[in-house]
Amino acid sequence: MADPIHERDATGKALDLVAEAAAPYLESLTTRPVSDPGAEESLGELGGPLPEHGDGTLAGVSRLLRTGTRAATHSAGPRFFHFVVGGATPAALAGDWIASLLDQNPGNWAASPFGTQAETVVLGWLKDLFGLPESYGGVLTTSATSANFTALSAARFWWAERHGVDVTVDGLAGLPPMPVFSSGYVHVSTRKALQMLGLGRDTVRRFARDDAGRVDLPALDRALAETDGPAVIVANAGEVNTGDFDPIDEMAELAERHGAWLHVDGAFGLFAALSSRARHLVDGIERADSVISDGHKWLNVPYESGFAFVRDAALLGRAFGAWDAPYLPGDGDDHVNYQFLGPDSSRRARALPIWATLRAYGREGYRAMVERHLDLAAHLGRLVEEAPDLELLAPVRLCVVCFRYRRPGIEDLDALNTRLGAELLADGRVFAGTTVYRGMTALRPAIVNWRTTEADVELLVSIVREIGSRLTA
Ligand SMILES: *Cc1c(COP(=O)(O)O)cnc(C)c1O
Repeated sequence: MADPIHERDATGKALDLVAEAAAPYLESLTTRPVSDPGAEESLGELGGPLPEHGDGTLAGVSRLLRTGTRAATHSAGPRFFHFVVGGATPAALAGDWIASLLDQNPGNWAASPFGTQAETVVLGWLKDLFGLPESYGGVLTTSATSANFTALSAARFWWAERHGVDVTVDGLAGLPPMPVFSSGYVHVSTRKALQMLGLGRDTVRRFARDDAGRVDLPALDRALAETDGPAVIVANAGEVNTGDFDPIDEMAELAERHGAWLHVDGAFGLFAALSSRARHLVDGIERADSVISDGHKWLNVPYESGFAFVRDAALLGRAFGAWDAPYLPGDGDDHVNYQFLGPDSSRRARALPIWATLRAYGREGYRAMVERHLDLAAHLGRLVEEAPDLELLAPVRLCVVCFRYRRPGIEDLDALNTRLGAELLADGRVFAGTTVYRGMTALRPAIVNWRTTEADVELLVSIVREIGSRLTA
């Protein structure tokens, strides 16, 4: 085989192969383990030298399908409770295929009016879904990490301008360190964003009043009063160990009083806004200067999907735009050009899977899914409380349940739970990861996958107890 031009006619058949494999694969997710026995051995099939003469379209594609359906982590299924991941709704998955089919580049209007307009529409729908003011600027990103980077770039521009510096043009040299304050709940991705921005990941000052990391508002207030010049406050909507929230409204109050920028990391927690039962957790969100969330977590859209919203819409353009390249659209362009509002230049039509899923299920469908997850998390919390060998370590507030295994007479519960976590992943029937919460090694399953049912969380409990009792026998 040689030049792909000779394989033009194979495209339809190659896509048929994928489509034919898709239905049985997706069906199998309901019952199969998260990780197949022998999955790791299949990884060897990926290797070998670069082919001199390719296998041809159909052979190459069949090979990848065969290996992939065996070796992949079946994290799109209902029993992957590790991290906070989600799956892909039927419409989102199909929308993602359409994004590949059309292969659009909505970096600028000239390259794809369709992809650009779809992005503008879904950003509007998402603001509406979360109760954010329509006037906020926004952009789709690859993840919550890149959304944090995007929003904090806008914050950095704002902060440097207050010091009389155009950081986009002149950089950080000569500026003092940018003060960034948060609670103990601040996520590693915010720190990564700061490190990428040249602000340093260890410059975040955390004001916590207990070992869980809950914010110490009076201490934050004092620090803001003692700071010269403007500061940035990061509020965390949904902390990954327990799903707890910083008090956004009260932090907004402090930000307004001290002239600080309020950034909210709501990678999964922003979805509390969808349910009247949880909405209070994000009260004050509409007072934030920037807010970010993920599409590939609770929205159940395929990777890579995140979004950033900024109150002063012009700031995204100031932080990312104005390149002065003669072949690109200039300042006089009336159309939105998303390459000037975020870190990516050429970019995938990330709006399409979001458009498809929101069109398919609407506000009501997502409310129902989020509330089903709240019920499942509460159910899991009750099962943990009822089990004599399990200990709930924090109240269930949203979609994360933090607990550990225990047995009378066992002193080193951290070592036991570390082993239990490793055995759980090796077993593969359900996935959940360990963390350290208030000095205790614990499991912290998160429930955000649209497929997850009561039977799945009940299976998690029974497998954890089965492995725990085996380890302590
Ligand atoms: C997952 C998560 C992130 C990072 O999200 P990615 O999409 O993996 O980059 C940031 N903040 C919080 C609170 C998260 O849960």
